[in-house]
Amino acid sequence: AASEGDEASSRINVAVRCRPLSETERSNNVQSICRVMDRRLVILLDPGASAANDYLRQDKSKEKRFAFDQAFGSDVDTKTLFKATTEPLIKSVLQGYNATVFAYGSTGAGKTFTMIGTTIEPGIMFRSVEEIFAGVAGSDDHTFTVTCTFVEVYNENLRDLGSSDGKEGILDLREDPVTGTYVVGITEIRAESVQEVMDLLQMGNQRRTTEPTSMNVTSSRSHAVLQVRVERRGNPSLGILIGKLSMIDLAGSERASHTNNSGLRLLEGANINRSLLALGNCINALASGSHFVPYRDSKLTRLLKDSLGGNCRTVMVANISPSHVSYEDTLNTLKYANRAKHI
Ligand code: ADP
Ligand code: MG
Repeated sequence: AASEGDEASSRINVAVRCRPLSETERSNNVQSICRVMDRRLVILLDPGASAANDYLRQDKSKEKRFAFDQAFGSDVDTKTLFKATTEPLIKSVLQGYNATVFAYGSTGAGKTFTMIGTTIEPGIMFRSVEEIFAGVAGSDDHTFTVTCTFVEVYNENLRDLGSSDGKEGILDLREDPVTGTYVVGITEIRAESVQEVMDLLQMGNQRRTTEPTSMNVTSSRSHAVLQVRVERRGNPSLGILIGKLSMIDLAGSERASHTNNSGLRLLEGANINRSLLALGNCINALASGSHFVPYRDSKLTRLLKDSLGGNCRTVMVANISPSHVSYEDTLNTLKYANRAKHI
C-alpha cells in the first residue's frame, strides 16, 4: 500500500512526536507509557499497569501499536525532526509549489514547542523561514520576494497576529479566481532576516487568544497559521513562480466534554472541533482520492484550500505526551493520525 513508505505516491507524511516527561511530572511519579521504536512504531502501554515501570513485566495484550511514516521519541530534538519532516518541502516551495505542515495534539502535548519553540530551540516555523532565506540567498539567477502573514483562527473567526500596531478585529476571507484564497486587510510582513521572523512568532504567539479553562489555564483554543509566500522572478520563460508554505499550530484536540465547561467555552470547543474535524475530513477525502473535498466546512480548511491536495505536499506532526494521565488524549491523537496516513 502507498502508506507503507512509498514516498513517491505519498503526499502526506504523518509523523508522531512524543515529548519528554517534564520535571514536575517526574517529581509527581507520572509514568511514561509511550515507547517509540525503529523510528516509525509507537507503542502505547496499558495505563492500568503503569505502576509496573518495567516494560518487560507489562501486560502486552493491552498495549496499542501504531506504525507511521516517521516517529520521534523524547530524545529527538526539533532540528532533527525538522530535517526529517519539513526540510524536503522547502525546495518545492522555492520552485513554486504549495506545502503545509501542521502540529496536531491535545493541550500540553508539545504543538507550540514543535512549531514555534523557543530562542534556544526554535521550532519548525522559524527553521523553515531560515531555510527559505538560505535557498533564496543561494540562487544568483533569480530574484525572490518573501512575505509572511500570521493569523489566528479563533471561534471560526480570523484575527491578525502580525500587526505591530495592535490592530484588532475580525478579518474576512475571500476567494479570488486568479490569486486564490486571501485574507482581506491582513498584515503582510516583508521579512528581511530570520530574527525578524522569530520576533514576529514570539509576539504573535503572545497575542493569541488564551483563556483559562478548568483543564489548563494556558490552554490555547486557537489555531495559529503562519503562511510564507515566496515569489520568484528571473527566467522570463518561467514567468513568476509563487510558492507558499503554510505552518499551523493547531488548537488543542481534547474534546469539549473533557474540559467540563459550558456556555461560551463549550461553543469554542465545538468550533475548534469543527475546524479539526473539517481538516480531518479533507485529509481523509484526499487520502481516498475522492473528487469532493469539503474545504468549505470550516475557516481553517477554506484558508488552506490551495495548500492541501493537488500538487501540494503535507506534513502532519502528531504531538503526544508520554504521561499515563494523558492516555485517552494520546490514543485519540494516534487514531486521528492513523486515519490521515492512507493518502
Ligand atoms: P501545546 O502547545 O501542545 O499545548 P506546548 O508546546 O506548550 O504544548 O508544550 C507543553 C510543555 O512541554 C511546555 O512547557 C513545553 O516547553 C514542553 N515541551 C513540549 N515538547 C517538548 C520537547 N520535545 N522537549 C522538551 N520540552 C517540551
Ligand atoms: Mg500551544
